[in-house]
Amino acid sequence: MTSTQVVRATCPHDCPDTCALLVTVEDGVATAVKGDPDHPTTAGVLCTKVSRYTERTYHDERLLYPLRRVGKKGEGKFERISWDEALDTIASRLGSIAARDPQAILPYSYCGTMGLVQGESMSARFFHQLGASLLDRTICATAGFTGYKYTIGATIGTDLEQFQNAKLILIWGGNPIASNLHFWTRAQEAKRRGAKLIAIDPYRSLTAEKCHQHIALLPGTDAALALGLMHVLIAEDLLDHDYIANYTVGFEQLKQRVAEWTPERTAETCGITVAEVVELARLYGGMAKAGEPVAIRTNYGVQRVHGGGMAVRNLTCLPALVGAWRHAAGGVQLSASGGFPTNKPALQRPDLLSKQPRTINMTTIGDDLLRPASAEFGPAVEAVIVYNANPLAIAPDSSKVMAGFAREDLFTVVLEHFQTDTVDYADIVLPATTQLEHIDAHSAYGHLYMMANNAAIAPLGEAKPNTEVFRLLAARMGFSDPCFQDSDDELAAMAFNRQDARAIHFDWDALKQKGWQKLNMPDAPFAEGGFPTPSGKCEFYSASMAADGLDPLPAYIAPYESVASNPELAKRYPLAMISPPARNFLNSTFVNVKSLRSAEGEPHLDIHPDDSAARGISDGDMVRIFNDRGSFIAKARVTDKARAGLVVGLSVWWKKLARDGKNANEVTSQRLTDMGRAPTFYDTLVEVERATS
Ligand code: SF4
Repeated sequence: MTSTQVVRATCPHDCPDTCALLVTVEDGVATAVKGDPDHPTTAGVLCTKVSRYTERTYHDERLLYPLRRVGKKGEGKFERISWDEALDTIASRLGSIAARDPQAILPYSYCGTMGLVQGESMSARFFHQLGASLLDRTICATAGFTGYKYTIGATIGTDLEQFQNAKLILIWGGNPIASNLHFWTRAQEAKRRGAKLIAIDPYRSLTAEKCHQHIALLPGTDAALALGLMHVLIAEDLLDHDYIANYTVGFEQLKQRVAEWTPERTAETCGITVAEVVELARLYGGMAKAGEPVAIRTNYGVQRVHGGGMAVRNLTCLPALVGAWRHAAGGVQLSASGGFPTNKPALQRPDLLSKQPRTINMTTIGDDLLRPASAEFGPAVEAVIVYNANPLAIAPDSSKVMAGFAREDLFTVVLEHFQTDTVDYADIVLPATTQLEHIDAHSAYGHLYMMANNAAIAPLGEAKPNTEVFRLLAARMGFSDPCFQDSDDELAAMAFNRQDARAIHFDWDALKQKGWQKLNMPDAPFAEGGFPTPSGKCEFYSASMAADGLDPLPAYIAPYESVASNPELAKRYPLAMISPPARNFLNSTFVNVKSLRSAEGEPHLDIHPDDSAARGISDGDMVRIFNDRGSFIAKARVTDKARAGLVVGLSVWWKKLARDGKNANEVTSQRLTDMGRAPTFYDTLVEVERATS
């Protein structure tokens, strides 16, 4: 007789929605993954990617056994070895490096899983005890986080479950149909109830096409648009004076600063019309003044440019100027992650560090793997342990990343589900469990529910959870602290037990049963101020920024690479390139799931008809996209979805699945944002030509 059960789980992927899953398991085999209809934000709906989760889990290319490299680095040739041999080899190599200087060992990880247990818990403890270099995990969000926190104090904002009540929603720098689906559901409901939706995005994405209006500004000029909006709001007195007086600081300085951002200057900087600036400000300020909830959903696209932190800061000032925070459905959301009482010190045990090691920025891994030892840098990197990440595909300035990982003297270990671009450069490959095969606890950055993931099936092959790999390595390295014995259940039970202002009753066993639990957050978190900034107010003027050497007022920082800011470079490379997420991929995850890759076809470059005609490029031609850093090949799609002067390469393709073995990160740079030390993926000038082969 068939035994069937339904197991509560959580989507682990780097997506704000953190969906509640119901996994059907028949005789030990997961046969279906569905969205939980009872979870208020998932509401029974999953994106196409995770609807195919069983295809990914039982993919015939899953890594099921430990492997040792037998070919050259990059060739991807391996032989099967035992776990004992793999772990002994790793422990012996790390031990001899650590005896000289443990900082020569570098963990490299990000959000391949968002789980608090399989992400940074036992792994962080291991590297802290070892004294390895710390990794600055900047690759996605730190610029925006920093600008947001300087302004309102924490990554807290409008609750996802309120957006359907807004009357105006600015979708600023994101494509929620592809990457925030459950927000889009709420925005559509708001639209049905009469709300106006406006997309602000250089590219006419799927989302922008479905909004009432699309403002296609030049990449990297969002900060200027926010300054221009503030200029009009102040000039036309579309303000909430009471909110400004009671709950903000620095209004007079802000007024002086934005005086210079006339609609004309704003329009010229952003490459849009004066009317677009003025009408947007009047709509936003006018509706707020009439007592209507006006909301902004911004996303990380805004902050992948030189002035990205400031751009998020500027647009985060807008709700306080018009009093939008008074409404539960007003305000702004970049991230909701700051509301969770996550107990990172308990999970990660930074107290295990015997002294403070150096920190290496994951964004500059290309340069840093090639850097020799020096007094300033410290020892050359001799070993990299990669988990939950695929740096060969996702890190900028890819040819340098590849050269770094190709170093014969670099010892590389990769924990993975599949033979990614990065695995091809590994010395030892360790098969990792997927979300269906281990337990985990999750916070979210798009909603306010703590989430539990139960293991639905046994690990496939010899795959092991990340936690178990680091437990076994700790034992081999002789680490005796009892924390290395903690089970995954014990780790999960620590996830949300922080005892401070955000403390909440948290019972892991109950969470596993129910699947989720909402935080105790007020519906309108800043209706009466209470911002967790040093002043307790929304800071138009930030003394913290001044102390950190930054401009304390909202400002515009031009892109490193744009026609206006770098005309000499633009003579050679006149087109701005952005590489936002393809709908069927999530960062570099899912690219090898055949049904999803077929839906994307092959790497494309969207190019405006004016720009293609000037280069003799027709729709469907193979084109070469290049600058001084490198080049890659894609198929041209001639379309006015990309504004003139902009090309768009939806990403992130695995390099080995592209016909030239390269992807869009061949041309992106390792330069950092104004704050948060983050990458500037969308601050890239290129030229495009017909490919000769
Ligand atoms: S990727 Fe996002 S939308 Fe898709 S199932 Fe996961 S959390 Fe939900």
